[in-house]
Amino acid sequence: MKLSVVIPIYNEEENIQLLYDELKGVLQGIDRPYEIVFIDDGSSDRSLELLESIQQQDNHVVVVSFRRNFGQTAAMAAGFDYATGEVIVTMDGDLQNDPHDIPGLLAKMDEGYDLVSGWRFNRQDAFINRKLPSMIANKIISKVTGVHLHDYGCTLKIFHKEITKGIQLYGEMHRFIPAIASGMGSRIAEVKVNHRPRRFGTSKYGISRTIRVILDLLTVKFLLSYATRPIQVFGMLGIISGGLGFIIALVLTIERQFFGMPLANRPILLLAVLLIFMGMQFISMGLLGELQARTYHEAQGKPIYTVRKILRKE
Ligand code: UDP
Ligand code: MG
Repeated sequence: MKLSVVIPIYNEEENIQLLYDELKGVLQGIDRPYEIVFIDDGSSDRSLELLESIQQQDNHVVVVSFRRNFGQTAAMAAGFDYATGEVIVTMDGDLQNDPHDIPGLLAKMDEGYDLVSGWRFNRQDAFINRKLPSMIANKIISKVTGVHLHDYGCTLKIFHKEITKGIQLYGEMHRFIPAIASGMGSRIAEVKVNHRPRRFGTSKYGISRTIRVILDLLTVKFLLSYATRPIQVFGMLGIISGGLGFIIALVLTIERQFFGMPLANRPILLLAVLLIFMGMQFISMGLLGELQARTYHEAQGKPIYTVRKILRKE
């Protein structure tokens, strides 16, 4: 089974040659055909030049160069599109991931997993603005998606190409590949991997990533749980809200009609009206969602299930 190593590169000029040499050493030691797919994500330094010269000398190397910077998620998505191997390894281009972990990940995968994710248990990044938010984010993501990993942020992962076929990546969603894959019924494992401090270049992210990740989590959760049945979420909210509003309005009406209590001085009337309106909106949103879900699945010919294998007599 051919191995494709996908590496996003954005302004990593000092790291590229070292990474390539180290990675090549490791891959030559593994008895499988391989390729290295570098995605140059619109680098403004000499990265592309260096990648081109490596590619000239080594026909295991593929370079995809973006017209501008589209972000790490887009770079990885391109890597999946252009990779020709059956097994895909993803890793960072900044030497923080250790190529020597690849054989270990492969061995774990051969135990029968579809995806093996790295866990940077001795992560070499600043504590306050990187490790702490990441710890909290990992807890939340694990809880919400039900896929319990210690380290969602680790780019070093290995999986069958199959998995990428059903996954469309947007925003910062490359880190949710395990959660999405698990939603499609994949078997997932986690293995401890080495992590090294960044020696050259600078990190491309700051603290604001945490918020963006949480927002993406919201999308992923919705897509995983309710994308095929939006009316069940919005309809439920609509019924609760509308029902509550209806009850309050009913009580007010009875009091007004049969007991002569004035309505004008009852602020709760406003609440009833608000709840009924919200209920109607939720239900219409759910119905629109149902239409959208049909367009989404039927326009792409995308089934609402995923099949592992089919057993039948010819
Ligand atoms: N990267 C990219 N496009 C971007 C930002 C980052 O391709 O817009 C690449 C970057 O070159 C590196 C990897 O994604 O190979 C991870 O980035 P970084 O090391 O900055 O993230 P950190 O390790 O600090 O989380
Ligand atoms: Mg890094």
